[in-house]
Formats: sequence, structure tokens, C-alpha cells
Amino acid sequence: MGKYIFLSGMSKVYIVEIIILLAVVILIGIICNKKKISKKIPKKNSNVLGRTGAALIEVEKQKGFRPLPIIILLVGILIIALQYAFEKPQISGDIKINVGSQIDDSNLKIMYHNKNIFNSVIGISQIDTNIIGEYYFNIDVPYGKNRKITKRIKVIVTDTEAPIIALDYKNGDKVSYTKDLTVEGYTITDNYDKDIESKAKVSIKQKNEKIVVVSYYVQDSSGNIAQESVELEIIDDVKPDLVLNGDANVTIDLHGKYEELGAIAKDEKDGDLTEKIKIDGIVDTNIVGEYVIKYTVSDSSGNSTQITRIINVVDSKGVIFLTFDDGPSANITPKILDILKRKGVKATFFIVNYNDNTEYLVKRIVSEGHSIGIHGYSHDYSKIYVSEDVFMENIETLKNKIKNTTGVNTKLMRFPGGSSNTVSKKYCQGIMTNLTKRVNNEGYRYYDWNVSSEDAGGAYTSTAVYNNVVNYLSKERINVVLMHDATDKVWTLNALENIIDYGLSHGYKFSNITEDTPLVHHRINN
Ligand code: ZN
Repeated sequence: MGKYIFLSGMSKVYIVEIIILLAVVILIGIICNKKKISKKIPKKNSNVLGRTGAALIEVEKQKGFRPLPIIILLVGILIIALQYAFEKPQISGDIKINVGSQIDDSNLKIMYHNKNIFNSVIGISQIDTNIIGEYYFNIDVPYGKNRKITKRIKVIVTDTEAPIIALDYKNGDKVSYTKDLTVEGYTITDNYDKDIESKAKVSIKQKNEKIVVVSYYVQDSSGNIAQESVELEIIDDVKPDLVLNGDANVTIDLHGKYEELGAIAKDEKDGDLTEKIKIDGIVDTNIVGEYVIKYTVSDSSGNSTQITRIINVVDSKGVIFLTFDDGPSANITPKILDILKRKGVKATFFIVNYNDNTEYLVKRIVSEGHSIGIHGYSHDYSKIYVSEDVFMENIETLKNKIKNTTGVNTKLMRFPGGSSNTVSKKYCQGIMTNLTKRVNNEGYRYYDWNVSSEDAGGAYTSTAVYNNVVNYLSKERINVVLMHDATDKVWTLNALENIIDYGLSHGYKFSNITEDTPLVHHRINN
């Protein structure tokens, strides 16, 4: 058995060496033999020698001692034996680890006497197998009889796994026209690269009129490539966008004029479809009532959108809308409310900021059925008309406060100084032109007036206030009357009852402004 163990420990190198050694020895042996023979038998005398000559040659052959091949053989055996005896373990292969996975040392061999003496690597746990790279560490390799050698082991942590592209769609799926397949419809994950999706290349090719081929390609940081593609049918199931020009709720005075402002239609695929909008419905401004206008548009794929506009034809001719600005005041407002209550008349209060002492009046205004509107948290022209944003904040702050106090989310408002004011020019050129549009766009309905009591300038007696109002009332139109209930407006308070009596005795109706009340606007001067 020992023989076999020895032979099995003979690596190919030794066997090759032994074969070469034997070949060399045999070759040298043959060469030496030939030299002897040619010396003893001269060619010229060969036929004279006869039998005795032949015998002589035999003797020479038998007696011939050739030391060189034997020496070579012995020296060769010695060298190979020493080589064998002093052989050291040899490392072949590295440890290769796929990033993030278990250590795989099957590739590593430590060969000694034609045997792999490697069994396990201690200390490899120091390596972070989650990070790609080349690592080295030393191990002690025991071999032979109590011998030991330190070897340097190379550990390669690599990523051999390609990213995974998961598609949301399969071949033949129908996809909406708006889907942007370059940014959605797939997810990519990679075992190593965190930000792999940003490396994706998505290309879309039109195969025919309906079908597109979407191809996805991605390469991770280690060069592993993943590719996927899918054939999709693109369908247009997106409705056109339809937006009204002007308000969705319009109030028109009886016998007034309805102006059709139309709408704008846009489609994802077909583009501008405004020309194709169908408008259905009629508005008879000679009959009080609610009218509905329908706007319909269809795109080339048959998707259609419909929106409506409601038109209220109201009879506000001969109606008086009393409005009180700049309140509430602790002394005037309660008395005005008392008169209105006694007379059964509803009015509208465009208020400014109020405090704890006057908060109950805001609640009272609402609870007694009057309308509440926004005049402004602050009334200071120099502060509120400096910019559009500042103005909007000024009305929104009060709007929110009113909502907290009363629960009413009012959309009614009146600009301090009216929309025709020129004082705002001092603080911001053109601000009224922009603000009147902006408050409209943000859903407010602002009211100016067409009858002014002049109680804030010029009329300082109740008679003057009374005359200014009653002289300008008209039964042929809506009457929005400007008055004030600020602290000093005693003359307004004293004129109020007479104004109401005049109106009632002359066939006028009184009402409070609502969102259906036709708008009364001044000409913009800034
Ligand atoms: Zn005011």
C-alpha cells in the first residue's frame, strides 16, 4: 500500500521528470555502446578477422562497463527524491464570492504531494462579502510531518448577478395613451447597485399603427446586463380636457343679456379641440329661472367630456340691497341690526377685523339672516394695496376668521375704496386691474355699488344721507346702496329707518346679497 500512497503523491511533474531521466539515461547508454564497437572493429580488416574476430567483439560487448548513464541515473533519482522531500504546498485558484452570498471556497486548492490538503479557511469572516473588491489574508498551512507554511490567500468578491427587470405589462397588453412608458411600467432591482433604475435605458419603437415595442436595457456597475422587451397596444382612453371661459354660475338680471363665453378643449392626443365643442341649451333672459348650458367635446378616439354652466335669470329690478361697510362697531351696528329686525329687512355687511367685544355682532349678523362679506382684515390702503399677494392675504385672513366665528365660508367681498379706487395707484400701479381678475379666479364675487349714501364723505346729516339714497333709487335696475356702520356713522343710523320706509312705501323690495345676486361693478381706474 505504501507504494501506492507514494505514487499517488507523485504529481505529474515527478512522473514527467522520471520519464525524461530514464530517456536520457537510455540514450546516453546507446551512444556509449556504439562508440566502443566502432573502436574495436576497424573497417578495412573486417573480412580478414573471421571467426576469432567475431568472438573478440562478443567479449568486448560483455565486458564493457559504462559508468556515465548509471551516474546520471543516480544523480537524477537523487534530485527528484530531494525535490519530493522538500516540496512545499502550492496554492492554486482564489476564493471567489458572489457579493452578498455565502463564502464559496471550492475553487481554492492547496496542493501538496498531488493532494489537496486544504480543508477550511479560518479568518475569512473578517471579509465583508457585501462589498465588491479583492481581499487578501494569510493562513497557516500545516503539511508533512509537523511542518507549516504561511500562505497568502486572495478572496475576490464579485457581482455576477444581472439586474432583474420586472415589467408591469405582458405582450399584448393595452396601455393608455398617456402612460409614459419611459418612466413607468417597470421596476428594476439589483443585488448590489442601489440606484439601478436611473441607469435604465428605455426605448420605444412603433411596430405598426397600434403596437409599440418597449425595450428596457440596464447594466449594473459590474457590467452585468439585463434586457427585456414587451409589445403593447396603445389605446386612447383619455378624455379631452374641457374648461369653461368665465364662471360656471352666472346670474343675469331679468331682460338682461346672456353672453356665451364658450369653453376651451384640449386633448392629450388630438391637441386643441375647442372648435369641436358642442354647446346645447338656451337661456331665456325674459323668464326668471335656472338654465343649464351643456358643453360637450369628443376626441378622435371617441372619448367625450361634458361640463355645464348654470345661468340664473333673476328679477332684481326694483330690489334694494342695503350694504354696510367698515363695521362692526360696538355703538352703531347693534342699533342698525335692531332697525333691520324691526322692519323685517335683510341687508349685507362688508366687515373689517373685529375683536372680542364686537364678535357677537358678527354672529348676530349671520343669525338674523343678513349676508356677511369681506371688506378686509385691514382697511389701510397703504398696507393692503402694496401687492396682489398682500391684498389676497388680507382678505383670506378675514375670510378664515369669519368662518371660525360663524361657520360661513363667504365668497362675497368689496374692495376697500371700491374696485374703481385710484388711491391704490400710489402703492401699486395697475393692481386693481389684476386684483379684480384674481379674486374672480379664486372664487370671490365682489360687489361695488350704484347708489351711494355719501355717508363717508360729504353727507354728515341724516337728511343728506336720506336724500342721497332715495334720489338715486331706480325701479328699472338693481339697487346696491353703499352705507357704513363704523363708530362715527350716527347720521347713517338716523337715516336708515326713513330710507326703509321710503323704499317699502314706493314698491321696492329689500334683500341681502347672495352668490346669485347680479354683480354690480365699477369701471377700473388703476
Ligand atoms: Zn370701507
